[in-house]
Amino acid sequence: MVKLEDIQRLCLTRGIIYPTAEIYGGLSGTFDYGPVGVLIKRKFIEYWRDFFVKSMDCIVEVDGATILPEKVLIASGHVESFVDPITQCEKCKSIYRADNFIEERTGKFVEGKSTKELTEIIVQEKLSCPNCKGKLSEVKMFNLMFKTFAGPTGEQIAYLRPESAQNIFTSFERVFRSSRAKLPFGIAQHGHAFRNEISARQFVIRSREFNQIEIEMFFDPENDDFEEFQSIANKEIILVTREAQLKKTDAVRIKIKDAVNKKIIPNKWMGFFLAKEFEFFKSLGIPESALRFRHMLPEETPHYSGGNFDLEIKFDFGWKETVGNAYRTDHDLKNHSKFSGEDLAVSLPDGRKILPHVVEPSFGLERILYAILLYNFVEDKERGWNWLRLPPKIAPYIAGVYPLVNKDGINEKAKEIFKTLKKNFDVLFDDAGSIGKRYARADEIGIPFGITIDYQTLEDDTVTIRDRDSTKQERIKISEIESFIKNKLIL
Ligand code: AMP
Repeated sequence: MVKLEDIQRLCLTRGIIYPTAEIYGGLSGTFDYGPVGVLIKRKFIEYWRDFFVKSMDCIVEVDGATILPEKVLIASGHVESFVDPITQCEKCKSIYRADNFIEERTGKFVEGKSTKELTEIIVQEKLSCPNCKGKLSEVKMFNLMFKTFAGPTGEQIAYLRPESAQNIFTSFERVFRSSRAKLPFGIAQHGHAFRNEISARQFVIRSREFNQIEIEMFFDPENDDFEEFQSIANKEIILVTREAQLKKTDAVRIKIKDAVNKKIIPNKWMGFFLAKEFEFFKSLGIPESALRFRHMLPEETPHYSGGNFDLEIKFDFGWKETVGNAYRTDHDLKNHSKFSGEDLAVSLPDGRKILPHVVEPSFGLERILYAILLYNFVEDKERGWNWLRLPPKIAPYIAGVYPLVNKDGINEKAKEIFKTLKKNFDVLFDDAGSIGKRYARADEIGIPFGITIDYQTLEDDTVTIRDRDSTKQERIKISEIESFIKNKLIL
């Protein structure tokens, strides 16, 4: 299988994603998107919007600030409990995330254990610093939020948001009213989130600044019915149930409506998003065998949750959470009502006044992009170069435009076609080197089509279009290029 190093090399050499402030040695866990990366990112978000937001009538979008006042994060519980356990080597001062460290070295599952219990395990198992064999300190909790101060006096404590969701809860009332909404009602958002991870690692997989793409779907817990549920009720997903995890048995394939009826999935909205996600990731080239939902165990789940289901993807290094699906109940609105003094309840047509419940699918963009690159990376000995089988919809450029030679007016004709196409599509102009080299460069970043302008073009206004996947070429009229491309953009 393709490995992290292959993806990393591709990202660096082709300007997809690279470390921030590289010339200064970088800041671990932070990355910049380059010219190719930014296009893939933008297209991915647009595709996500089409799939999850624009396909529904009851979802609106917001774009919140990334700095939040301390009060918000006290109310949400992050100031007190957005923490990870750490232990430090008393000799060389290396710091380790205690639970991961113990799990990696002993194979014991320690999620949810207290600092005291973790310290005891370190002593019992005689664990020492892997760097210098030094003694490890007592386990302490470390808050993962980036703290900062607003204004010159330093009195106003603020934090970079650790999840994008909180803006949605704090502005819920305004958005609900200004949209003249009724339940069910969704608010979607994509933007940056910040977590001071103890050890940022595995390229973009665990970053300190990353992109979250989320929906908070508000609904009446006494009536979770909605029309669109029927469209997915018979769809199947692969689910690792709690029972399967305890008995160490396989994941099950289950129909959404059965999982909801049996209360394995807590409500229809959760079922809806799980089904949609399964379809979404398959459409991006990630095979079913690399997708599963895991029902989080009680010790991994916040006390207020009505059930969390991680969508896990099988990466080259193992399974990893890539979308967190959380049934947050009314926890957030309840706490923000209490701490702000504002009543965030909504009135229903039947006269009841309730705090809506929330299901939240939370996508991490970087992990998804990594998975897309991993599963669309084709090692091709025959062709002589590796290429990306990106679905046209999320390819950085839909086509490359190539003059076969740089003389006799061919370059000018190619430029003219390029400029026209550029008004409606992302296209790339490349006139450097042999045509084979240009195809190779385009294939490497997943450009689906190559439009070549040659002598015949000057005679009959036709071009050749090369298909990235089959490498076959066909001749079409210049006037047909736009409709050809539009047809291919339907995923
Ligand atoms: P969570 O709020 O922890 O459930 O995170 C939601 C999603 O954000 C996860 O499924 C990941 O895809 C992504 N995510 C969380 N933490 C990180 C991180 N440190 N680096 C990159 N992505 C992350």
